[in-house]
Formats: sequence, structure tokens, C-alpha cells
Amino acid sequence: MWMKMKRLIAAGTALSVLSACVASTQPQQNALPTDGGQVSMPALDQLEPVEVNSTPELDVNYRPKVTTDEGGWWMKMDRYEESLQTHASLVRDEDLNAYVRGVLCRLAKDYCKDIRVYVVRKPGFNASMAPNGLMEVRTGLLLRVENEAQLATVLGHELAHYYKLHSIKNWRTQRNTLDAMAFLTLGTGIIGLGATIIALGGLSSYSRSNEAEADAVGLVLMDQAGYDPAEAAMLWGKVKREYAASKDADMRNSFFASHPEAQQREKTLDNHARWLKRNGPEREIAQAPLRQRLAPYLQSFLEDELAQGDFGALEVVLHDMEEAGRAPVLVAYFKGELYRKRGDEGDLEKARDSYLAAEEYAKERDVDAPSGLYRALGLISLKEGEQERARMNFEQYLQLAPDAHDAAFIRQMLEQIS
Ligand SMILES: [Zn+2]
Repeated sequence: MWMKMKRLIAAGTALSVLSACVASTQPQQNALPTDGGQVSMPALDQLEPVEVNSTPELDVNYRPKVTTDEGGWWMKMDRYEESLQTHASLVRDEDLNAYVRGVLCRLAKDYCKDIRVYVVRKPGFNASMAPNGLMEVRTGLLLRVENEAQLATVLGHELAHYYKLHSIKNWRTQRNTLDAMAFLTLGTGIIGLGATIIALGGLSSYSRSNEAEADAVGLVLMDQAGYDPAEAAMLWGKVKREYAASKDADMRNSFFASHPEAQQREKTLDNHARWLKRNGPEREIAQAPLRQRLAPYLQSFLEDELAQGDFGALEVVLHDMEEAGRAPVLVAYFKGELYRKRGDEGDLEKARDSYLAAEEYAKERDVDAPSGLYRALGLISLKEGEQERARMNFEQYLQLAPDAHDAAFIRQMLEQIS
């Protein structure tokens, strides 16, 4: 995966078949095998360029024999994929799926037909790819990317793991380690297939060199597809700030303390991007198409993030959206929601200001804000003794959300006002 996430190792969690990525910024130290896909790029602290080979190593027809334990691991992936196809969180919207797939295919070219992309409604920044060609893209990722080049950054990185067989190679190494451990400590009878897979779920993070290679190869794929590779470092910078602000101390610490080289990742990405862009035509960022295609979904994506309750992280996401001039009505409204729910000192004033800003933006643009805005404004107006304004706000709320769970309560308040 493109960033480190809390490991999904609960027994029976089929996601454990997908290897989690440990975010890393290790400069590319080793020359890779060379052939047609070879590109030279400078490592961060080296003057000599290093070789990056973006040519896929994979054979799309590869399937381990079902009788082997590797075959068992693949069957787990297949079963996971089957469960995903009927899962409630799978996003079936054709437009959104076609859009994400289109960006992937621009990167993957001939390999596109062998990859199944699943857009999954989940908050948080992530995407992952399994060696059987199953790619999972979270809606939280779609919320955070500001342009198509940033989306291509993550898809290209995952594609690179797939092309370079990182999961398969790691799985084989870990299986051998486990076999040795099994003999030494557990006895051969205890580790059956199921136990091995569950144990592997906890071990299947990518190595730093895997991550560095996926970053470097991903940049080359972006560049070859005509996307501006400089957006990779921009995206990484955003992720870093979000992590630093996250309430999830676990995530924060593991990311910044145990992987101090993460601090270097942005520089390395930027360095490599400059190298790729040193000559040749302008690459594309493609901001307008991404914004246009994602606009209808932003409210539901933001609701999912708000429900997570990681206010520090969400504040960074909203701040970045605001800076980028994206969906101003929604951003102001969700800032109001965030401050109201967080309720730290000074937050209620901030919430009020944000709600009022959202109302202003909605008027200016002549668009409806989320219904919840008018409920919030009604309550604020009541508190401030502005009965007439409260009445108008509540009426607008009921007009937009006549079946809201609290509609009866709001009607009662309206009766009291008049
Ligand atoms: Zn990765």
C-alpha cells in the first residue's frame, strides 16, 4: 500500500492476504537490472544516477498449483475478491469506477485488462494491490487527491508493487522463515495453512527497498503516461502533515519514529521527478477532470471521514481542500461540523463562523448546502435570540430533508417559535 496502515490481521480478515506497505523514503541505492524500461535517476545523496527499471517482471498467467501452500494463499485472495464483489462497501457507481479505471489504464496500458479495480467506500488514505491483479482503492484516497496526477501517483506505486512481484517475493521469504520457526518452536503439526496465513498477515509489510522501488517505478509510469511526476512529492507532503495531526498516536509514532526515513521520502520523490522532467514536454496535472468527476461524491466521502472522529487529520484535509479552492460550501460546512463535534476551547465560535461562511458561499453560488447546515444555523440563531432567522433556517432544513430523523423535533421547535 502507499502508506503504512494499521495491520489487518484479525483472524479471518481476508484483507490480510493483501500486503501492507510500510511507507519508506529510502533513496534508491541499488542499480536494478536493466533492459528496455530502464531510466537513470539520481539518488538523493549520490551524484551518480541510479538505474530504475520499470519493466514488469510479472507473468499475468502465473497461478501457483492449488496443492501448494502458495496456491492456498492465492485461494484466500480469490475468496476475498468474491466477498468484495457482494460487500456493502463496494462502490458500484459506474461513472466513478470508469474514471478510476481510466486513470489506471493510462498507467498500466496492456496490463490493464488483467487488473480488477474495486472502489471501496472507506475513509482514510489508502489503496492496495494483491499479486493476483486485485486492486482496491479507498474513497478516502479519492477525497484527498487534488488532481489526476496525484491519483496516478498512488495507482502507479501500487502497480509497481504488482509489476515487481513484491508481495509474492515477500510471501515466499516469510513462508520460509515461518517454516524454520515452525520446526524450531512449534513443531510441524501446529502450523496448518490457516494459521500460516493469519501469521503472515502480520508479517506481510513491504520492505523499505520495496517501497523505494515502488516509488521510483511509479514515478516512471506516471511520467510515461504524461502525468507530472512532481505531484508525487506534493501528495506525500500532504500525507505527512495529516499523519502529524492525526489523533491516532499509534499511526503517528510508527510512521515518524520508527521510520524516520519517511522524512526523506518527499525529497527523494521531488528529486526523481525533477530528473525525469529535466527535458521533454510539459506533463499534465489534470486537475479539472478529477474535480469534475469527483464533485458529486465529496459530501458522502466527507461524512465518512467525519464519522471516523479523527478531527486533527480531517482538519488538515479540509484545510488543503480550502487552499485548493475546492468545494467551498462543503468544506466550510464540514469545518463547522468538525469544530462543533470536537468542542475544544474556541471551537464553538469557529463552528459558527464556518457555518456562516458556508451559508454565504452557497448564496453566492446559488447552490444548496447540505441540509445539516440549515439545522445548525437554526440552532445558532435560536441561541442568539434571532427567532425569525431561526425560523427561516429550520424551514429550509425541512424543505431539504423532510424525512430527516429529527424532522419531528424541528417541526416542534418551529411551532414554539411562531
Ligand atoms: Zn507501497
